[in-house]
This record gives sequence, C-alpha cells and structure tokens, in this order.
Amino acid sequence: MESKRFLLFREEENIFVEVLTKKIYTIGRRSHDDIFLANRGISRCHASVYFLNSKFWIIDGDFKGRTSTNGLIVNGQKVLLHELNQYDVITFCRDVHAIFLEYQGDLASSKAFEDSIRNVILFFSGKDKQGMRLLDSEIEEKTLRSRIQKPQSDDLTGLPNRSAFLARVRKSLEFKEQISKDHQFSILFIDVDRFKMINDSLGHLAGDQFLIHLAARFAACLRSGDMVARLGGDEFGILLDDIDNLEEAKAIAKRLQEYIARPLQLENQEVYPSISIGIASTHLQYRTVEEILRDADTAMYNAKKTGKARFVVFDEKMHQRASSLLKLDGDLRKAIENQQLQLYYQPILSLAEKSIVGFEALIRWNHPERGLLSPDIFIPISEETDLIYKIGIWTIHEACRQIDLWRENVDIQPILYVNVNMSAKQLSDTHLIQNIKRILRKFGIKSGELKLEITESIAMQNSQHTIKIFNQLREIGVPLVIDDFGTGYSSLSYLNRFPIDTLKIDRSFVSNIDISNENTSLNITQSIISLAHSLGVDVVAEGIEKAYHLACLKQMKCDFGQGFLFSKPIEADAATHLAENGLNWPWKF
Ligand code: C2E
Ligand code: CA
Ligand code: CA
Repeated sequence: MESKRFLLFREEENIFVEVLTKKIYTIGRRSHDDIFLANRGISRCHASVYFLNSKFWIIDGDFKGRTSTNGLIVNGQKVLLHELNQYDVITFCRDVHAIFLEYQGDLASSKAFEDSIRNVILFFSGKDKQGMRLLDSEIEEKTLRSRIQKPQSDDLTGLPNRSAFLARVRKSLEFKEQISKDHQFSILFIDVDRFKMINDSLGHLAGDQFLIHLAARFAACLRSGDMVARLGGDEFGILLDDIDNLEEAKAIAKRLQEYIARPLQLENQEVYPSISIGIASTHLQYRTVEEILRDADTAMYNAKKTGKARFVVFDEKMHQRASSLLKLDGDLRKAIENQQLQLYYQPILSLAEKSIVGFEALIRWNHPERGLLSPDIFIPISEETDLIYKIGIWTIHEACRQIDLWRENVDIQPILYVNVNMSAKQLSDTHLIQNIKRILRKFGIKSGELKLEITESIAMQNSQHTIKIFNQLREIGVPLVIDDFGTGYSSLSYLNRFPIDTLKIDRSFVSNIDISNENTSLNITQSIISLAHSLGVDVVAEGIEKAYHLACLKQMKCDFGQGFLFSKPIEADAATHLAENGLNWPWKF
C-alpha cells in the first residue's frame, strides 16, 4: 500500500502540517519558498527536501550548495544531507522544528493516525501527556555543544576555516553524487607568493594585515554562491559552485589574480601581492573531498614551480606523474639499503697522450621491476625530496672506495682520478665538507684523486656561496670541474674568481661540430678551449662520438676528452680492465 509522508512544523507556538506530494520542496524565508518560515533564525533557503529512490531526503541549504547560516540539525546531529525516517526531528533554529511522519493506508479513518498526530503535537509543544518537558532542551544543548567544539571561522581573517570549507565541499560532492550528476564545481587552492619575505622584512603584524587584505579581496571577487576559506598559514581555498565548464573556473582564477595583484600599502610601503593557484574540478571523477583538495594542491605546487603568479589546472597526466613519482620516491628510499645503486665509469682520455687519465662516475639504479634506470629519471626527484644528500654522499663514498681499489692494483699506473657529479642542493648541505673529509681520510685519498663536477648554471646561481664552498673543497684537495660549460652564460669576471681546475665543454657543442669545420659550435668550442687556457685550467670535451670530432678537438688543442667513441660508461670491473690494459686507440690522430 502506498505510504503518505508529512512534515509537521512547529514555529514557536504555531503548528502546521505539510503533506509531501511534490518531488522537491524548498524551506526558507524567501516568499517563493514552498514552505515559508518567517522566524529570524531561518536562512533565505534554509533547507531543501527532495524525493529520490522512494525516499525523502533533506539537505542543508539550496540545491546549489549554499548552506544555511545556522545549519540543519536532525535528531540532535548537524547534517548536510539526511535520509528522512519516521519521527526524525529536524531543528532549523532555536524556535523552529519539524517532525517527519510516514503513514500507510486510509488516513482519514485511522484512529492510530489521530493518536500519533496528537502525541506529536504534544511533543512539539514541548510537553508530554502529563505536561512534562520533552527532548527540546536536550537537542538544544547538543547543538550548542557541537558549535562550541568546532569553531567554523578563522580568527585572523574572519573567513570560514579549513573544517568549514571541507564540510561545504563535501556537501557539494554529495549533492553531485546523489541529486544532480551534471552539477560541476571547482576548487581553487591558493598559496600566496613570497609571503615569508613579507613576514621577514615587514614583521608578523604586517604579515597578518597583508592576509586580512587578501582575504577581503578574495571575498570581493566571488559570486554569491561561492565560498572562500583560509586553510591555514598563507593558504586559501575557494569553492566555485555550480560552474558550466572549466573555462569559467579559469576565467575566475585569472580575474582573481589580476585583482589581487593591485598594489597594497603596508607599513608605509607599497607591496605587490601575487598568488599561485591550483584548480581541481569535478570534470574529473572524485569520490572524496580529500582527493579533490589534494589534486588542487598538486596543481598549485606546479604553478609555483613553473614561475609563480599563475594558475594550473590539475589534469590526468599530472595525476599519473604524481603517483608514479610517489612510488619512485618510496622505492628510491630503499634503494641505498638494498644496494641497488651502482656507479658506472666513463674513461677520460688525454688526447695528446692517448691514454686514460681518469673516469667520470655516473650513477645507475638497478630497479627491481624497471631494470637499469638512468640518473635523469631519479636524480631530479631525489633533489625534490632531499634524498639527494644521502645519495650524494653514497656516490662520493663509493667513488673513493673504487679509487682505493685501483690504487692497490699494480697494473694500473699512473694513478687515476674519479670525477663525481654534484647537485645544486648538495652545496647547501652544511655537513658537506665534513662528510667529504671523513671519506677522504677513510680511504686515504690524496689531493686531486677525487674531483667534483658541478654544472655551470648551478655554479652561477649563488656564486658567492659557491665560491666559498669551492675554496673549502680546494683546501681539502678536491679540485672542481665546471660541467656543461657554455650553456650557463657565465660572467667572465666571476669565472676568474672561481677556484676551478677544469672546464668541461658541453656535449651539445661537441656533437654539433660539423665535418665541414665551419659552424658556430666549432667556433664556440674553440673559444672555450682558448678561454680555459688563458685562465690556466684544463679543458675536457665530452660527447665525442665521431672520429672527426676527435680530429677537430685535437687540432684545437683540447687537452682531454670523453665520449662514446672511446667508451660508454661501464661497470667497475670493465673499467678496471680498461685501466689495466689501456684503450684500443685505432684512430690515426
Ligand atoms: P653529465 O654529468 O653531463 O654526464 C654525461 C652524460 O652524457 C652521461 O649520461 C653519459 O652517459 C652521457 N654521455 C657520455 N658520452 C656520451 C656521448 O658520446 N654521447 C652521448 N650522447 N652521451 C654521452 P648519464 O649517465 O645518463 O647521466 C646523465 C646526467 O645525470 C649527468 O649528466 C649528470 O648530470 C647526472 N648524474 C649522473 N650521475 C650522477 C650522480 O652521481 N650524482 C648527480 N647529482 N648527478 C648525476
Ligand atoms: Ca658530469
Ligand atoms: Ca656534462
């Protein structure tokens, strides 16, 4: 038999019944709301009721995801979405309640129905049959307590806080899942650029003022149904609810960035705010709030990394990259302990003597599933996660162990040096010099046996600091090689002040040397060789693949060379064999 549903309202002393016959009801203070409630504690659209899967549901606010001011409480619990069941008590505000009733059969003649209604009315008037007070006060107390426990706004800016934001986004997600699959919304994850600089230079009070100004600017830019919240620190979140397409979200992000960028007066100084924005949108499938926020965060991180003051939309590719990087990072952490890292050695030759003078150590990772991985795949992530410190020290230790082995080997004369590559980050490691010293001592490495390679662009980035470290390294007998030279736009005056041992001509110039002997690469190579000689440092050409590369380089008086023409990077045993027997040198130069 068909059942009938009712909502029995009590608004202060006023009691009325709404028979639910339509599929959708809005309840609120707007004149066009289906169920109009005049009480001041009621929001414009306080709640909505809809019929789905043979059940009635109630949500806080309207169908666009705008929640009510005071929230919706069912049976004493704050809810965003609730499936209505017999006798559920809905509290809209202090003086307005409703009870959900469901009856089967012919109502008019049902004595049971009349009795129930009478009981409900008694209940609603706050008394039981004997005139004793009922439940209401208990519900109120619970509501009050839940509000006290969870503040919903941020003290500094007055914006909703993280937990309010998450609750609202969760609601929009539920709405999309359960009511309208076509409902689309976007999350903007915002991080203020260079906030630390403002805090450090103008002080924390000014920093706070700055955030308050930004909060006001955010709020001014949004449409009425959107929400901006402070997620913590200098991070903000924006929910753009009910958008037609991604282009709309992008347009809003762009507008936001332009509006925020207007100059701001702080402590009598003009500051130029800028923000980086990551956008995640329900155009991709999301199951939880945490997922969508995480992706918006990842996109924001990308925006920062690629130059700040811009926005990036999270896409599937980014997702795959993020999860494969995460996996790679996890594996890499175990790689050192599991002895999966290995150094390969590529011989460096004296072009005049035609003999091996040293090796460049190049790292490889024997990945258990993916096979031998090249450093280009894992060194960049290790730099992002600080794992590079550990890998860097391991590499130096391993290279020194090998130098020690070769030195003991009577068939290898004269003694060979090993070049080890260094990352930018290692230069900022305060224990670097200390650690290297310890390793040199452990293996009895002499001055010049270990050299360190650093690319030209890194050396130039923070030249004052680099010069200091280079000097310390020179003091402990570790010469320096400037790698990939010619690509980093060194200023010659700086170069003069760098305590360097060798310039290594970047592979791109060498491999572009033309057989015709008349091209720019050739000219650059010639200039670098001359420059090195005038600075009194050695010069190595890398990437020698063809005999005519070698011919040209010899003609230009390049001192040393390495490249596939002589040998690819090889394992230590093979390198030992080469060092013992010398290189087969069939070229007549
Ligand atoms: P890099 O320092 O410029 O190393 C030279 C790269 O060129 C090596 O690639 C080497 O195998 C390759 N190569 C050598 N000769 C030739 C040639 O004739 N033709 C061509 N096409 N290539 C040649 P690899 O081993 O893949 O290393 C790539 C980069 O990874 C290195 O560039 C270096 O920047 C970095 N790297 C390698 N090992 C380490 C390490 O232990 N620590 C750090 N921080 N970075 C490393
Ligand atoms: Ca190198
Ligand atoms: Ca190089």
